Amino acid sequence: MNKDIIVYAGPCAVETSSQLDEICSCISDLGLSWLRAGVYKPRLSPHSFQGMGSDGLDVLDKISKKYNLKTISEVVDKESLDKIDQVCDAIQIGTRNMNNYSLLKLVGQQTKNSKKPVLLKRGMSAKISELLTVCEYIKEAGNTNIILCERGIRTFEDSTRFTLDISAVPFLHSQCDYNVCVDLSHSTGNSNLIPDLALSAIAAGADSIMIEIHPDPINAKCDGLQQLDLGQFSNLISTMSDLAQYFGKRLI
Ligand code: PEP
Ligand code: MN
Repeated sequence: MNKDIIVYAGPCAVETSSQLDEICSCISDLGLSWLRAGVYKPRLSPHSFQGMGSDGLDVLDKISKKYNLKTISEVVDKESLDKIDQVCDAIQIGTRNMNNYSLLKLVGQQTKNSKKPVLLKRGMSAKISELLTVCEYIKEAGNTNIILCERGIRTFEDSTRFTLDISAVPFLHSQCDYNVCVDLSHSTGNSNLIPDLALSAIAAGADSIMIEIHPDPINAKCDGLQQLDLGQFSNLISTMSDLAQYFGKRLI
């Protein structure tokens, strides 16, 4: 059992240097160690904000180093993988790419020597058994340092953006030795639901938790409704820490 629960917090997307500075300062003040931030954004519509790309990665690099934070960001193809691998401590593969087997192989090959953590999100319409099967592409290519991430699935229920399958956490733990992350922002699509579900994720045994945060969620360039503001995040971290402590764990 992991004694530490990693909190992957940060904005859906890097927007400006000052935005990221405020966020990193908050994460660091709370004693946490990881920044998650997107720079290559796989958006449904080509007209939506696509992320800042390599300019955003430069910002991410500079500000995360200033606060001594580790970083994770999403890769979408070979070019973004090459760039993100040079800067980030962990690689994220998003829900839309769970079935992009050539990308999974590339990520496995690229991280074969570094054994950098690869966070693989469950496809939004994928069964748990499929997630467990496709992660073998990364393993076979040479990296077993895989984190499986439950980020909500498509069901008939549309009160939330996706349906958070909390049972995936203990079930995955019963099937494999990989660490399991719960992404509370993309599953709910609703920042009001994040605090209660964060506690349920800890109670279910999640090894890490992903939460999108933004200094001004309403004006975020993407995913504003599912990002906590920095005050809400600080309050939540204090409640989560208490529950983690109850289980003999701590947030990092
Ligand atoms: C993200 O984490 O920024 C993201 C796009 O998530 P998902 O792949 O789960 O939609
Ligand atoms: Mn997002």
